[in-house]
Amino acid sequence: MRRISVFGATGSIGVNTLDLIARRPDAFDVVALSGGRNVALLAELAIRHRAEIAVTAFEECLPNLRDALSGTGIETAAGSDAVTEAAGRPADWTMSAIVGAAGLPPGLKALEQGGTLALANKESLVCAGPLMLETARRHGSTILPVDSEHSAVFQALLGEDIAKVERVIITASGGAFRDWSIERMARATPEEAASHPNWDMGQRITIDSASMFNKALELIETHEYFGITPDRIEALFHPESMIHAMVGFCDGGLMAHIGPADMRHAIGFALNHPHREPLPVERLDFAKLGQFTFRAPDEVKYPALRLAREVMQAGGHNGAVFNAAKEAALDAFIDRRIGFPQMAEAVEKVLVKLSSSHLGKGAMTLDTVLDADARARVAAAEIIAAL
Ligand code: NAD
Ligand code: MG
Repeated sequence: MRRISVFGATGSIGVNTLDLIARRPDAFDVVALSGGRNVALLAELAIRHRAEIAVTAFEECLPNLRDALSGTGIETAAGSDAVTEAAGRPADWTMSAIVGAAGLPPGLKALEQGGTLALANKESLVCAGPLMLETARRHGSTILPVDSEHSAVFQALLGEDIAKVERVIITASGGAFRDWSIERMARATPEEAASHPNWDMGQRITIDSASMFNKALELIETHEYFGITPDRIEALFHPESMIHAMVGFCDGGLMAHIGPADMRHAIGFALNHPHREPLPVERLDFAKLGQFTFRAPDEVKYPALRLAREVMQAGGHNGAVFNAAKEAALDAFIDRRIGFPQMAEAVEKVLVKLSSSHLGKGAMTLDTVLDADARARVAAAEIIAAL
């Protein structure tokens, strides 16, 4: 039996992870599940999977969680420190599927226990890539990417020498506004941005797909995880979302990873690694699909892509600043305090404002990353209020 924990269990990735786990009840023991305000779902999942402990990130949700789990023998806890503590319970495999920088402390804690960290939480690599990789190395733990593009690159690299990689192409569906003009995008509402043409995901990543901030995070994630230099990483529009990534080698050959737009493939790959096991995903019928199309992304329409390049070049704590500013701008857009294009405007201003500070000059620790994150949120609040 493999001991499994799922952080962000109540979200889109978490629920899909537990769906796969439920199909093989004899293979897995569930240790810890964490969630946010959806306490009813967290309790239901904890009971169904006989978890040892269920943790909500929010203290005020604890009474409801306790009620829902009373008499079950399942432990309960609340607060972000409790989430991180739960990640310290030994597990063989941990899913990191909290959304945002809040996923970083529990992800690091899980890495300190050895074992495997299946990483959906791309923000932790964007904010603290070197720290994540160094923590894994020090504790002999493994990070497996779960983002579909990065799982695709990982799979294309199996048996290959990374030194022979000439380029990595990360595909993008284009999100909700791929066929909209810049003028129409300027008036977009959060509801419009939150409807994805191909993927069924959480609200925040879906809006980030419409602005290409999701792809921007993924370019940085590619750089951090695989150690590929920014000039060799490309984003490519591919509206069908069937090719998730391509890896080009020094001999001109490319390995493309093709699969259905169903996260259970990438999650299942990480769950079963290093083996392959059958997964309940659609098998593609190419004759029916007919064609795959591609186009170059428009960096004027999507400034997030340009900002990602600048962040990769600058390195240090700029990833943490970029992500925190992006999270603050996304909150402001969801709350209708700013318009859609102002998200990129705000993020760029925060990066410029903090670029002359001492951020990123010293060694990276969890504290320095959290400090950069906090300073970026303060700067973002001021900048957003003045927009
Ligand atoms: P979601 O919004 O559906 O779920 C987020 C989860 O995090 C929930 O369990 C929620 O309770 C929890 N959470 C929210 N705020 C929290 C906080 N402050 N502290 C602790 N827990 C908190 O998100 P999702 O779409 O499942 O995405 C999760 C992560 O996976 C994100 O990093 C996202 O970028 C990444 N990802 C998602 C997909 C996808 O298909 N959904 C694909 C690739 C990568
Ligand atoms: Mg992705």
